[in-house]
Amino acid sequence: MMPDPLFYQLLLVGLVWLCLMLHVVWPSDRATSGPTTPRPAKAPPQRSSDLKPFPGLTRTPPCTACEQAHEHVPQPPGCPPPRLVPTRGRPRQVDTSSHFCPHPHCAYRGWLGLGNITSNGHPSGGLWRQLHCTGCGGYFQETHGTPLHGKRVSPDRLVWAIGALAEGLGIRAVARVFEVDPHTVLAWFVEVADHATAFSQYVLHDVRVTQVQLDELFALLSAVKTGEVSEAEAVERLSRSPHWVWAAIDPVTKLLLTVDVGDRTLAMAQRVVHQVVQVLAPDCVPLFLTDGFKEYATALLTHYGQWVQPARQRAQGPAPKPRWRPLPGLLYAQVVKTVRRRRLVRVKHRVVFGTLEAVQQVLSACGWQINTAFIERLNLSIRQYVAAVGRRVTTLCKGEAGLRQQLTLYQVYYNFCLPHTSLRLPWPQPEPTHGRGSAKRWQPQTPAMAAGLTDHVWSLREVLLFRVPPWPQRAEG
Ligand SMILES: [Zn+2]
Repeated sequence: MMPDPLFYQLLLVGLVWLCLMLHVVWPSDRATSGPTTPRPAKAPPQRSSDLKPFPGLTRTPPCTACEQAHEHVPQPPGCPPPRLVPTRGRPRQVDTSSHFCPHPHCAYRGWLGLGNITSNGHPSGGLWRQLHCTGCGGYFQETHGTPLHGKRVSPDRLVWAIGALAEGLGIRAVARVFEVDPHTVLAWFVEVADHATAFSQYVLHDVRVTQVQLDELFALLSAVKTGEVSEAEAVERLSRSPHWVWAAIDPVTKLLLTVDVGDRTLAMAQRVVHQVVQVLAPDCVPLFLTDGFKEYATALLTHYGQWVQPARQRAQGPAPKPRWRPLPGLLYAQVVKTVRRRRLVRVKHRVVFGTLEAVQQVLSACGWQINTAFIERLNLSIRQYVAAVGRRVTTLCKGEAGLRQQLTLYQVYYNFCLPHTSLRLPWPQPEPTHGRGSAKRWQPQTPAMAAGLTDHVWSLREVLLFRVPPWPQRAEG
């Protein structure tokens, strides 16, 4: 027979040990939630992605554009030659800071703002100014390397024709209006499209945005509208055809970061995300919003990921392999719409990378929520312009290349030349007009101005006359 005090002491020690063990073994979330709240056996499906973190990949997904990237970035040929300071003559009147010497054997070729370019006036009353390089002694026209160079047509007529194309008029219609051969218009257009591509590549870089919306839409909208084929048939047929227009836009500044044509595949998603990365500043990791197309997640992970060494689970054995995981700052949410008989039935939000709170924080800075309104608005604006452009491609310059050319012209026109109503800023005080109209109250703003890329609305003529330097650099004084 055991004495009572000893028995109670042992019982107490046993109970304390039991409590300690229970505390260690019990699941931690159970301890915080309290014992009275009953928990469902299975988590609700929409939260399942929040609960288990993305495990990461053991190798990075391939991106063709990344592999070829180093071949495409134009590099300066070395250090710039010394700056030339004029020692004699009148002070220079004409601003030549955006001009560079085009002569292949000149040490100053391609360099901006080194004081080697002087203006030589308009020799024999010509339309364009002649410029002189004091580095090599060569002469060239101010239109050198632009679509306006060496054209017999009047510059006004060429600019207006291109403007009509940019507004969505077809090549044949432009040819009729401006009384030119359609082949001439096509030749101008191809040249302008090349110029627009180079212009966009040169000007759109180091852009800082907080959000990017990506979308793909099919180009043959007119066939659906006129009832020739049903929408389902069009989607069915087009998901095999290459005519998908891919677009990335910043919903805040409305800047069209990239537009491209291709099929609806992972390779294309990779290409589009790659182009977005090229345009954004290197340390800029915005919130991405897309539709439910699943390959976006892989494409974003490819370009916004890093190798992470997972912590050891056990003390013994080999260390776990490093995993490719999204950058901690990457936020990505999908807006998945269910459409039945052309009616929006359901809208689901799915946060793929990051947390719902972080996504909502970015959006609330603009007073927004995750909403289809973003995608709808993007779709609407793209369809209004790009689809209008794309629709005419089938009859004018056929194929993917033709559509891409239309889109590059559209991208430049939209970003730099078209003021966006929602971006306009009130003048501090109303600007009086020169005529008898009421004073101007709003200052027009283009997406490029809102994004801080330029300080004014560009005319198409200005875009066409812009001489794109052979490598990235900033014009100085
Ligand atoms: Zn030169």
